[in-house]
Amino acid sequence: MIDLLQDLMQDRRIRHIQDRVDGISTSSKMNATAAAREVTVELNQRMNKLLLTNVALMELLIEKTGITEDDIAKKISEVDLRDGKEDGKLNARAALPPAKDCPECDAKICRDFNRCLFCGYEDV
Ligand SMILES: [Zn+2]
Repeated sequence: MIDLLQDLMQDRRIRHIQDRVDGISTSSKMNATAAAREVTVELNQRMNKLLLTNVALMELLIEKTGITEDDIAKKISEVDLRDGKEDGKLNARAALPPAKDCPECDAKICRDFNRCLFCGYEDV
């Protein structure tokens, strides 16, 4: 019985949404489609620029330092795992290097300030 009521309520919600979509004028739908296409093109351009920059940086690192592609793959995995999930996503806060201990007083050095807030030691 509850399932039937839920189905009826869901049908009603779907019809309501469909009515709203039908109520949107064709020109508004076309404008929304054009805007979505524009955003997609811009995101694609940004992604290509980031990809180009990453490939250039990786090649420079490999050529100039002896760091290998395997080293880079391991680092990518390590950074990805800093938020506890290897999901191919970057949590900007978790991506920061882990907090260090102050060599002067053993307190944690704040990552945002790069200096010890307890004794004033500057981490450079
Ligand atoms: Zn300190």
